[in-house]
Amino acid sequence: MTLALAALERLQTIPDLTVRPGALLQNYTRFRLGGPCQALLSTTSEAAYLSALAVLTGSDLTWTTIGGGTNLIVSDAGYPGLVLQYSAAGITADGPGVRVEAGAELNDLVDFANAHGLAGLEAMAGIPGWVGAAIYGNAGAYGQSIAERIDWVRFAVGAEVRQFNREECEFRYRESIFKRNKSWQILSTGLRLERGNSASQADKSASIRATRDAKFPPAMQCAGSIFKNLLLRELPPAVAAQVPASVIREGKIPAGWFLEEVGAKGFAVGAISVADFHANLVYNSGGGVTADLLTLLNELKRRVFDRFGLVIEEEVQYLS
Ligand SMILES: Cc1cc2nc3c(=O)[nH]c(=O)nc-3n(C[C@H](O)[C@H](O)[C@H](O)COP(=O)(O)OP(=O)(O)OC[C@H]3O[C@@H](n4cnc5c(N)ncnc54)[C@H](O)[C@@H]3O)c2cc1C
Repeated sequence: MTLALAALERLQTIPDLTVRPGALLQNYTRFRLGGPCQALLSTTSEAAYLSALAVLTGSDLTWTTIGGGTNLIVSDAGYPGLVLQYSAAGITADGPGVRVEAGAELNDLVDFANAHGLAGLEAMAGIPGWVGAAIYGNAGAYGQSIAERIDWVRFAVGAEVRQFNREECEFRYRESIFKRNKSWQILSTGLRLERGNSASQADKSASIRATRDAKFPPAMQCAGSIFKNLLLRELPPAVAAQVPASVIREGKIPAGWFLEEVGAKGFAVGAISVADFHANLVYNSGGGVTADLLTLLNELKRRVFDRFGLVIEEEVQYLS
């Protein structure tokens, strides 16, 4: 028996680990795109997750992780390995501290903090996905990002559990040390929030959710903003000079401004389109394929490069 086969058999014996051979990844992504994986391994048990990681570390199996699948592009051929999904979702408060497991919905965390009168997350209402991935990609919106509130992050390197404080996580705009070390698995985190006011926080979250629902219709098969916004200080002066001051927010220029300038709105390849109301929003109108999505993204990148000499980078993650 090969090492890989033996490892697969051992995975199937781990209590509380669900193994779905050949799972179709389009059922696990908001884009509704992507072919099958070898098997999807999911669990809400930290012990089962660590056991699975121990088996994988000692094997030659290829594997990766997903959360809620809201920021992912998966190829039509699928993923040639195992896909892990850790969905433990507990949230507890202790004074201004909140402990949350990686599989909790970020939205549930925002609502929990609001209900407990703990401030600092309310502007992140409406960002889809789970807390683990929010840390991985330092999710944020409307002037708040998760990094600002992190006290510590517990994560697994193989079956070994480690803990980093916020500085050690090396957060930047949509970046963290976890993005550069994809095999590290975020398990839970501690957040330090401020004393706030439940009612006013809940009002703010509700108003932000309403704004977001108009921008990103809840049923839309998409990944939110597809390209990262650009930092003004990193732009060549000749390009920065072309950007109207009115579009600059917190030192950033929306990628959508450059995309709109190159005629992205409404551009389509097959069933994959750029929204006609938002140049940085790409969606699957139904029955689309990833190959068309990639063609469309490459065309948008080419247009921005030809016009501005800028390489725009995907915010969305490719499953690899
Ligand atoms: C309509 C819409 C609006 C959006 N708006 C915003 C926004 O305003 N701001 C923003 O920041 N993002 C936004 N996003 C993007 C997305 O919501 C975030 O990136 C979110 O954090 C992804 O969470 P997820 O659980 O779906 O992750 P997934 O898409 O499943 O995974 C994303 C990445 O995280 C990694 N990952 C997942 N779990 C773990 C873990 N436990 N440990 C280590 N790595 C892990 C995966 O390997 C993958 O590379 C939006 C998306 C949509 C669809």
